Amino acid sequence: MKAKSRFDRQVSASNARLTAISPKAIDWAYRNLVQHWAFRTPSGETACGECGHKFHHKGKSSFVKCPECGRLLKIKDTLKRKIEESTYFSTLETIDGLQVQRVSLLSVTYKKGKPKSVASVEICRLWLNANGLTTGTSKNRTLGHYLDSFNWASPIELKSGISETHVIISNTYIYPRLTLIPELRRNGMGIERNRTK
Ligand SMILES: [Zn+2]
Repeated sequence: MKAKSRFDRQVSASNARLTAISPKAIDWAYRNLVQHWAFRTPSGETACGECGHKFHHKGKSSFVKCPECGRLLKIKDTLKRKIEESTYFSTLETIDGLQVQRVSLLSVTYKKGKPKSVASVEICRLWLNANGLTTGTSKNRTLGHYLDSFNWASPIELKSGISETHVIISNTYIYPRLTLIPELRRNGMGIERNRTK
């Protein structure tokens, strides 16, 4: 969509200037928001999803610590060789006096005997200025059965406001190292109150 209003033009310009999501935020999402698995066969052969290390483990407990990397893993009794986990997460940042919530999809693949692989793709951004104007920039949605199917290759561009899909996927975990525009800090945005509980 072409920027029509002054606010749209401002968002378009700031949208183009944002750099990649911090690797620390992606690591936080991986550590806190997805399950970390160990594959275990009936014989007790156990493989750490994190580092791929194989060890023997029997017993009824649901969790085990990998003797190699030390990660606490949930045990999955399975003959499968691959487990996938995904979650949305967001970061709150400021740029050029605007507040932006950046929503990413984190995908983790655990393959038996291999170290985990983690991928994070930023999907959309919700923008707010000091006067309360909002709009969204996003990858293009693809038509299909799922609301949240996006064209991964498309750039994050200005859309005509914030769609219902963006509202749904942005209602997700927020990286705790956030920055807020002064207007939100002054008004005591909910998230800050929650953090001090
Ligand atoms: Zn391990």
